[in-house]
Amino acid sequence: MGSGSAIRGSRVGAGPMGEAERGESAPRIRIPFYCANKHEVVPSFSHEAQVPEEWDCPRCGFPAGKDPNNPPAPPRTEPYKTHLAYVKERRSDADGQAILEEALAKLRADRAAVAAAMRG
Ligand SMILES: [Zn+2]
Repeated sequence: MGSGSAIRGSRVGAGPMGEAERGESAPRIRIPFYCANKHEVVPSFSHEAQVPEEWDCPRCGFPAGKDPNNPPAPPRTEPYKTHLAYVKERRSDADGQAILEEALAKLRADRAAVAAAMRG
């Protein structure tokens, strides 16, 4: 009699704990990562999962690290930019003079036009 009510009481007490366990089957931990652009991303990991050293920033795609003061360097794979800079470099020598001549010719033409207009 007395023992029976004690068991029922313990069951009621276990109820909320069981619910909490069901709601969050695997405990998750949130680890903040910081990228070179000072973005902060806080992915959550399963308690059993191994937390990686780096995490891809969802905003800029740069790798993000766990140390906010020392984020991993952004990847240096920019072949397009390098190629463009190379083309610009090549152009500047050969076409630089031509572009200058063209600009001067246009300036002279404009002045001539203004002078002609002023002359009436
Ligand atoms: Zn970022």
